[in-house]
Amino acid sequence: MVLADGINIEGVSIGGLETCIDLPEFKVALDIGRVPNSAVARNTILFTHAHMDHMGGVAWHCATRSLRGLTPPRYVLEQCHTEAFSRMMDAWRALDRSTMAHELVAVKPGDTVDLHGGRKARCFRTTHIVPTLGWCVLETRRKLRAEWLNVPREALIRAREQGVELQEELEIPRLAFCGDTTIDVLEREPLAQQARVLVLECTFLDDQITVAEAREKGHVHLDEICARPELFDKVGTLVLSHVSPRWTPSLARRILDRRLPAALRAKCEYFLPTRESET
Ligand SMILES: [Zn+2]
Ligand SMILES: [Zn+2]
Repeated sequence: MVLADGINIEGVSIGGLETCIDLPEFKVALDIGRVPNSAVARNTILFTHAHMDHMGGVAWHCATRSLRGLTPPRYVLEQCHTEAFSRMMDAWRALDRSTMAHELVAVKPGDTVDLHGGRKARCFRTTHIVPTLGWCVLETRRKLRAEWLNVPREALIRAREQGVELQEELEIPRLAFCGDTTIDVLEREPLAQQARVLVLECTFLDDQITVAEAREKGHVHLDEICARPELFDKVGTLVLSHVSPRWTPSLARRILDRRLPAALRAKCEYFLPTRESET
C-alpha cells in the first residue's frame, strides 16, 4: 500500500476503527486491528497498546492461523497487559473449545525481541491515554571501528591475526511505529527521531478538533506536525497514518498536501485507506 525506503507497508490504519501495520518482508505486523487478510500469515505481532482498534482481532488471528494449519503465533505486548490478555484468551478457549495455542512475550520499554532474518525490534515508551509502546525494527551492520579507519591494510591484517576486534556492530533503525501517541515522543526518543521510515499517527487534520482536544485524547494533530517540521529532520520518510474516518481518504490527502510545509511534504507518504468505502 505504501513503499518507503524499500519497505512495503501493508495493512490498514483508520483512527478509532482498526490499525495493523503489516510488514511482509520483515515477517512481522505491528498491532493486529481487525486482521487484514495479509496479516493472517504473520507469526509475530508486536503490540503497541490494548485499545480495541489495535488489538481487537487477536483471538480471530490466533484461531484462524490454527484453522489454516499455521504455527502458533507469538504475541509481544507490554507486561502490564499480559494477565488480562491471558484471561481473555482463556475465555475464548472455553467459548471456542479450542487450544488457542500461542506464545506470549512480555516486554517493557527498552526491551528487544528477535525477528526473522537477523533483524530485531526494540520498544520505547510513547504517550497516550493508556500505557503504550512504540516499536522500531533494527538491522545490524558490521563496520570498521573509527580508530582503525585510516590504518594501512597490512596493519589491519596483523591486528586481526592477533585477535583484535576491528569491527563493531551498527544498528540501523529501519522503521519505527509510534502507535497511538502525542507528538512529545519526537522530542525524546532517538529511535523515532532517526528512523529511516517513521510511521506516525496524525489522527486529526483541521479545526474540527483543536490541538488541545487532540492532546487530551492522546493523539497527534496535523497543526503540531506543521508547526515543528524540524522534529523530522533526521527521519528518512515520514508515513502519516491513523487519520480519523471523519475525513475521507481523498479529503485527507487534499488537506495534507495543502497544509504540510513543502520540505516536509517531499518526504511524506500517506497511509490511507485505498477506497472511500473503507471508512
Ligand atoms: Zn488507535
Ligand atoms: Zn489508542
